[in-house]
Amino acid sequence: MKLIDTQDTIIALATAPGKGAIHVLRVSGEDAISITNKLFKGKDLEKQKGHTAHFGTIRDAEDHIVDEVLVTVFKGPNSYTGENTVEISCHGSEFIVQKLLKLFSENGVRYAKAGEFTKRAFLNGKFDLAQAEAVADLIASDSDASHDAAMNQMRGGFSIEIKALREKLIHFASMIELELDFGEEDVEFADRDDLKALIYELQAVLKRLIESFSLGNVIKNGVPTVIAGKPNAGKSTLLNALLNEEKAIVSDIAGTTRDFIEDEINIGGITFRFIDTAGLRHTEDKVEAIGVERSYKKMKEASLIFYMFDALTEGFDEVRDAVDEIRQIGTPYILIANKIDLLPEKKLAGEFSVFSKELVEISADQKEGVEDLKEKALALVKADQFRTGNTVVTNARHYESLFETQKSLDDVLNGLGMNITGDFLALDIRTALHHLGEITGEVTTDDLLANIFSKFCIGK
Ligand code: GDP
Repeated sequence: MKLIDTQDTIIALATAPGKGAIHVLRVSGEDAISITNKLFKGKDLEKQKGHTAHFGTIRDAEDHIVDEVLVTVFKGPNSYTGENTVEISCHGSEFIVQKLLKLFSENGVRYAKAGEFTKRAFLNGKFDLAQAEAVADLIASDSDASHDAAMNQMRGGFSIEIKALREKLIHFASMIELELDFGEEDVEFADRDDLKALIYELQAVLKRLIESFSLGNVIKNGVPTVIAGKPNAGKSTLLNALLNEEKAIVSDIAGTTRDFIEDEINIGGITFRFIDTAGLRHTEDKVEAIGVERSYKKMKEASLIFYMFDALTEGFDEVRDAVDEIRQIGTPYILIANKIDLLPEKKLAGEFSVFSKELVEISADQKEGVEDLKEKALALVKADQFRTGNTVVTNARHYESLFETQKSLDDVLNGLGMNITGDFLALDIRTALHHLGEITGEVTTDDLLANIFSKFCIGK
C-alpha cells in the first residue's frame, strides 16, 4: 500500500521551535542518507551502519559551515518510519534550523506535512492505526492516567484485543462463504450454534470496550466539575485548597464569585477541570440572575457537581431543597458540608445522615476532609476501573467503530434467529469486520488517514 507522496524524501524540525540547547531535524525517505551525506563533512554516512551517530559539519553551496552537528543514521526498515532516516542534532537556534531546512530543500528534500513521519510508519507497517493515534495522544498526555492509556495503546494492548476479535470473525466469514461456493448442495460448514456463541462472546468484549469510553473520555479530557453552593459557603477556599494556590479570590462579601473560574487539578492521576459558579441562589439582582442561569447550564453539562453548603449557617431543610434541585439536574454530585471546624464537636446534626452516601464533611479553611472528598470524586468517575489495567477506549473514532461493529453483530444474531441464508449472514459479518478493521487500519481510506494525521504536529 504505497501512496505516491511517500516516495519523496521529507524533512521537518522534530523539536519544539524557538531557542533551545539543541534542535533535532529529521529527514526520512529513500535518499535521506545520501542527500545528507552530500551536505555533511565528516565520515561517509552511506558507509555507516544503522543506529550510529557521527560528528561533523554541514556546509552550504559556498562551502560555508552552517553548523557543527551530530548526525544519527537509521537504515530502513529499522527506523521509526521504516525508511532510511537521518536525525540531525544542531545548535538550538531558529536561524540555523531555517538555514538547514532551506539547504535540504534546495537539495530535493520536501518539508514534511503534519503527521507525515507517523503516517509513513503506519503505511510501512511499523504499527497499526490505533497505535499511530496513540503517538499523538502520548504527546498530548498531561496526567498519569492519560499517559498510561496512550502508552498501553501505543504498545499495542488495544490492537491485540481488536485483532483477536477480527480473526475469530474472519474464520466464520470464510466458512460461510465456503458454503456459498457449494451453492445448491445445502451444506453447512459453519455451525450456527458455534457462530451464535462466538457472537455473544464478541458482544461481551465490545460492550466492555464501549462502556470504557466514558472513563476514557474522562482520562483524556478531564472531568468537568462544577463547584456550586451559596455565596460564602467556601467554594473559593476549597478551590484554593485543591489547587494549593490563590487563583480564586476569597472574600467575605456574599456573591463575589460571579463568574466562572476554570482550573485543572490532578486527583489520583485523573484531571478534574473545576468550574466555579455563581451558585443557585434565587435573586433580584440582574447580573447575578444571569449568573444563576449560567450555573444551571454548567451544572447540566458537567460530569460532576460539588455542592457545598455552610454547615454553620445553612439548616437541614435548606440543604435538602438544594439537593432536590440538584437531583433534578441529573448530574452525579457530592454534597460537601463546609466549615465543620465551627460546629460543636466538628460534626453535623444527626438528621443529615440521610445524605450519608453523597456527603463529605470538610473544613476547606483547615484543609480537613479534603482527602475524603478527593477519594469520593475518584470513585464517582470510576477511576478505580482504570487501575485494573483493563483496556480503556479513549478515542472517539474507535468508540464509533466499536459501536457500528456491535450493531452489525446484532444484525448477524437477528439473522441467525430468523434462519436467513448464508449470503446475508456473510454480508453482516463482513460489515462487522469492516468496522473492526477501521480501528486498527486494516480498512482505511485516504480521507480517513488525512484526517487522522493532520491532527499531528509537524515533525511527528
Ligand atoms: P464562596 O463565596 O463560596 O467562594 O466562599 P469563600 O471561599 O469566599 O469563603 C467565604 C468565607 O468563609 C471566607 O471568609 C472564608 O475564609 C471562610 N471559610 C471558608 N471555608 C471555611 C472553613 O472551612 N472554616 C471556616 N471557619 N471558615 C471558612
